[in-house]
Amino acid sequence: MSITESLARVRAAIDDACREAGRDPAAVRLLPVSKYHSVAAIREAHAAGYGLFGENKVQELVAKAAELGQEGIGFAAIGHVQTNKARQVAEVATELHSLDSLRLAEALQRRLEAVGRRLPVLVQVNTSGEQAKSGIRPEEAVEFASKLSAFDALEPRGLMTMAVNSPDEDEVAACFGSLADARRRIRDAMGGGWEELSMGMSGDFRLAIREGSTCVRIGTAIFGPRPAQAPL
Ligand SMILES: *Cc1c(COP(=O)(O)O)cnc(C)c1O
Repeated sequence: MSITESLARVRAAIDDACREAGRDPAAVRLLPVSKYHSVAAIREAHAAGYGLFGENKVQELVAKAAELGQEGIGFAAIGHVQTNKARQVAEVATELHSLDSLRLAEALQRRLEAVGRRLPVLVQVNTSGEQAKSGIRPEEAVEFASKLSAFDALEPRGLMTMAVNSPDEDEVAACFGSLADARRRIRDAMGGGWEELSMGMSGDFRLAIREGSTCVRIGTAIFGPRPAQAPL
């Protein structure tokens, strides 16, 4: 199946999941995750109508943006960003889904000021409690959100999570529910904003939509299995 066909299938599955959940399909955006896939694959998805792609490594994001930025293609950083990569994210990324520390917020603020940019950010929350996953703890969400107001180059748009990788749907749904709950608490405390819930990947996006996702990040179901190495 071509990437164009896969995109249409995935989008149709998202729309179905929305209708089953009694939600408006227009309220859920599809962020194709292009990590490890070629610029040719990204160009094909762009021709099919997608202009923003998720990348989880800063180096790969920068290389692809250098290649494709001229064509109007943008990239969202969705993986953990080390503080020493803040400059590249500040200069190149269209949005960041994985803000997970005030140290990173501070570094981004400084670099964004230097280039006169603002950056839409989502705060990553570790809703599974797994050591290997980044993100603030759900109980820190309100305090973290309020501290972000000090960084005026950052535009907080919402929250992001990766659910536990488990065959138990209840466990997966609990992760997504925890993110939705964190957003509710933030909105109550801050009086609005924070609309985005970036949650759901190839294997669990239907559940995420049921729990209120506004952005699903999907790689494998669109581009196929990932090659062993990044192309750039
Ligand atoms: C790779 C990745 C995805 C996409 O995963 P698939 O299972 O290939 O759909 C989503 N979010 C993040 C943060 C990722 O790193």
